[in-house]
Amino acid sequence: MVVQRKDPLQKLDPGRAAALFFARTGIARLARRWRPSDVCVLTFHGLRDCHDDDELLDLEQHITAQIFEQVCGYLMANYAVLPLSEIVEARRRGKSLPRQTVAITLDDGYESNWRLAYPLLDKHGLPATLFAATGFLDGTVLWFHRLEAVLIKTRASRLDMELHGERICLSLESLADREAALGKLTAHLKGLSNTSMLALLDQIQSELGVPHLSNEDLPQALRPMSWDTAREMQAGGLIEFGGHTHTHPILARCSDEKQAQEIRRGRERLIEELGVVPKLFAYPNGKAGDYTEVTKRLLQEEGFAGAFTMQDGFMLPEDEPMALPRYGYPSSRDYLEAVVSGTMARFWSLRKNLGLVSVP
Ligand SMILES: [Zn+2]
Repeated sequence: MVVQRKDPLQKLDPGRAAALFFARTGIARLARRWRPSDVCVLTFHGLRDCHDDDELLDLEQHITAQIFEQVCGYLMANYAVLPLSEIVEARRRGKSLPRQTVAITLDDGYESNWRLAYPLLDKHGLPATLFAATGFLDGTVLWFHRLEAVLIKTRASRLDMELHGERICLSLESLADREAALGKLTAHLKGLSNTSMLALLDQIQSELGVPHLSNEDLPQALRPMSWDTAREMQAGGLIEFGGHTHTHPILARCSDEKQAQEIRRGRERLIEELGVVPKLFAYPNGKAGDYTEVTKRLLQEEGFAGAFTMQDGFMLPEDEPMALPRYGYPSSRDYLEAVVSGTMARFWSLRKNLGLVSVP
């Protein structure tokens, strides 16, 4: 497949343009001195090699190993990177934390976390929390990986089907078309109940003539790590594992019974395979409306001490332990510098106050 796209990490939206400006002019470096004494928790997913690019549609989900190395070097030199469990425990006890505290989290359990991220974390001595969807490590193809793989593998040049009363026709001619189709279909699927979402995904896969897929059929960047490598990382002492459900449904789209089952199964599998009881959890997708009061209660009943969202913000002492914010997708060293220094938070807040845009 010929690459006809620009790496999304190179696209300059207003946020990235501002981050570039703040970092390159030294404003972010200065702002670090007045940074709030709150904790910045960063979220990453898998990493990719440059040769993965023409195999993937959602490049934004996986930053390059090169950028991750810059991120690690920058954080080690300028911030106190602490294990997330230590941060949550300090907050619970009302203890103070270093002014420049940052935490690194890696979601889902990709093979690239072991192959590409772990050597860099180890080299710099940086701790991280890996929120693993245990079914992924057990061999289940997660639903969003299946959708991406179906759109990569199909020989169809368009998807023409009924989506809940609405006729949709998406071109799949080029890689850029497939990337756009992935964005539209993902947004639609995320709004459905988990059962309807899975049924529609089956329908899309059959419509596009793609046979059953296993993780071995997926691009390397979408494959899971093995439990052996998870154990090895945990034994190294830098990586702690947290819950992220078993099969990664958006919990608010599940019945209460299914939510309980997903949370419990994920916790049990971590205990069985790693021999350690997970204390932290990250909500799949993690936006407002992706978890409910029932989800929070279930997590507390299972003994989790903290749960993280994917809603931007610094972690404040008064934050509710079951809805702690995280920053997602630090896509470049510049963007990272602007985020962890608090400059981006001030920028978004200023834009909001001026009525220019709603805070992302
Ligand atoms: Zn996830």
